[in-house]
Amino acid sequence: MDRIPVIVPWLGAEEAEAASNAIASGWIAQGPRVAAFERAFARAVGGLHAVALSSCTAALHLAMVAVGVRPGDEVVVPSLSFIATANAVRYVGATPVFADVDGRTGNLSAETVQPLLTEATKVVLVVHQGGVPAPLDEIRALCEPLGIVVLEDAACAVGSTYDGRPVGDASELAVFSFHPRKLLTTGEGGMLLTTRLEWAERARRLREHGMSVSAAARHASGSVVLEEYVETGWNYRMTDVQAAVGLVQLGKLGELVSRRRELAGRYRQRLAEVDGLQVVTDPPWGTTNYQSFWVVLPEGFPVGRNELLQRLLDEGVSARRGIMAAHLEPAYADVAHGPLPETERLTRRSLILPLFHQLTEAQQDHVVDVLVRAANGSG
Ligand SMILES: *Cc1c(COP(=O)(O)O)cnc(C)c1O
Repeated sequence: MDRIPVIVPWLGAEEAEAASNAIASGWIAQGPRVAAFERAFARAVGGLHAVALSSCTAALHLAMVAVGVRPGDEVVVPSLSFIATANAVRYVGATPVFADVDGRTGNLSAETVQPLLTEATKVVLVVHQGGVPAPLDEIRALCEPLGIVVLEDAACAVGSTYDGRPVGDASELAVFSFHPRKLLTTGEGGMLLTTRLEWAERARRLREHGMSVSAAARHASGSVVLEEYVETGWNYRMTDVQAAVGLVQLGKLGELVSRRRELAGRYRQRLAEVDGLQVVTDPPWGTTNYQSFWVVLPEGFPVGRNELLQRLLDEGVSARRGIMAAHLEPAYADVAHGPLPETERLTRRSLILPLFHQLTEAQQDHVVDVLVRAANGSG
């Protein structure tokens, strides 16, 4: 058996054709397909304004700028996240304040956030980790009276739901990733969703060097348009080739999510025989897209986490360590923080198992077998 990857995108002839059509059109930079992808994404997810960007990291950065986060401001953020989450806080010179997570969901909760709020808190950056929706209502209830913006890092959460609606629906500010490690991919890419027109307009301008009129609008105009550079921006544009792929992928989102949930259900059922193993599941307030299927090894598991990763690899299975913790990385060694016990337990004891659209049941059974044998103390 070939090695089972931890994730592979689900791409086919339709995406190839869409990309090819974009190239044949002669317009390959940000143009009509990016605009169409933005409209389609906003329709699918329920956002008011969607701004396509070169990555979710770029979207996080522009979200911080749009809110007006500055040096001296504090942003409460889970340490338990991909490094890009905390980095975005630093891009604008603000201070990341690491909050612990709920050990069952891997996400922030009102309980972990509340003690960290100060006069200087400008944003609470809520991550829907691995696709598991975070408890937004209780966090918003804390933040809204204090004028603190809740920014959703929904990098992993396209197709997840909160309270019966897609994550990002009617969100004041949410960002998504289309990296191949996520559910829906454009190679690289991101999206910023917001209900605030002024934030969307600012993000549109900032992704094009702070230009007063987009290149596409200038091109489409019948008269000469002289652009102006209103403020310092960046080049954070998505290309039309990427957007063409994204439009096709968006049409497959329902299928992508239902197949993940079916396979995840199968994992959960089969892994129930491993004593004490914690397995990712839906929280009471929503559903996960199972972008990442993580398990947490209990105390006393016969094999260490890293040793188990090696065993899986030896048996032809690519798994990954669980979500990283930024406060344990050298880049954040200078950030003071309180105790983060659940973050540390999850990052040290968890691993991510293969889960992707094309995973077969035979492959999945093999992954489970390796885990069950390890749990039983047999090689
Ligand atoms: C992947 C990821 C990002 C970064 O997304 P890119 O599109 O690769 O920039 C940010 N936050 C979280 C939680 C992620 O998982």
